Amino acid sequence: MSDATSKAIDRAMGALVGGALGDALGMPTQLLSPVRIAELHGHVEDFIEPFADHPVSKGLAAGTITDDTEQALLLGRILVESGDRFDHARWVNALLDWEREVKARGSYDLLGPSTKRAIDAINNGVPAEEAGRSGDTNGAAMRIGPVGIMMPLEPLEAFVAKVAETCRATHNTSIAIASAAAVAAAVSRGIAGGGWRDASASAVAAARRGATLGHWVTGGDIAARIVWAQDIVRGKAIRDAIRLITDLVGTGVASQESVPAAFAVLEVARGDPWQAAIISANIGGDTDTIGAIAAGMAGACSGFSRLPQQHIARLVGLDMSEVRALAADLVAARVAKIGSGKDAAE
Ligand SMILES: [Mg+2]
Repeated sequence: MSDATSKAIDRAMGALVGGALGDALGMPTQLLSPVRIAELHGHVEDFIEPFADHPVSKGLAAGTITDDTEQALLLGRILVESGDRFDHARWVNALLDWEREVKARGSYDLLGPSTKRAIDAINNGVPAEEAGRSGDTNGAAMRIGPVGIMMPLEPLEAFVAKVAETCRATHNTSIAIASAAAVAAAVSRGIAGGGWRDASASAVAAARRGATLGHWVTGGDIAARIVWAQDIVRGKAIRDAIRLITDLVGTGVASQESVPAAFAVLEVARGDPWQAAIISANIGGDTDTIGAIAAGMAGACSGFSRLPQQHIARLVGLDMSEVRALAADLVAARVAKIGSGKDAAE
């Protein structure tokens, strides 16, 4: 294996495990307001158990990952198995199997609103390729990391087309595709050796292109809102930045809130994955998804070897050998796309 390929695998693992850190740290605070988080937990800086009556996280052990990480790994596996043509039916069935399995585990954290709606449509006879025509929430962006690992950023048209293809069944809208393209592009730039600032610039370009695809739905422009969200928090102290993100950017499941929020978190954390996870966990709203996106992008730019190993050791529900194998398979697919004679870092 070339040195460039092993570096790319380290960054791929950084994306997947960084995302898991953000997900697990935000698990107990998801859906709560920042005030309620502070009342219950103070400033969250480490894995904690959710309070007893938490609407979706109740009963989970501290450090447990949720749908964000599990669905990203699932999508990664389907991508590897699908080859060049993404298998929509297989993907939708995998999501259905996943929901059945988490229900059996007693989880309350199930499929999100857009994915649920799409799967109901498919069960009513709508083709998998058309079921996602109204999906505009953040589910596609939350699980898109593996596409960024597998796809080189150039040519951008092919990159964003692959993002849109994986979004089609559940999130086939301008806003969701722009959001997923932004996150995937940030990850891809990280895999290629880019830093978090480069990753943010690539994200904006990919979001602009992504917004031209899928069914148009109304909502603030993702590319413009990423630029704006990073501008308003730049140089701010963490507590002030959190206030600006919760009050102005928004932390809800709407793509146009949580995805720009994740980029604002990346900015405040200055690309540090664990800082990104901590900021996200205290931000209120969709904390685990914002954390998974922000720390995943940061992890892609820093690499697994620079993640806090003491925290990784305490993650619950993540099979590290599965992550390692998936990272290697996705990078191998990336190398094959770039072509022999070149390496994964290009
Ligand atoms: Mg979650």
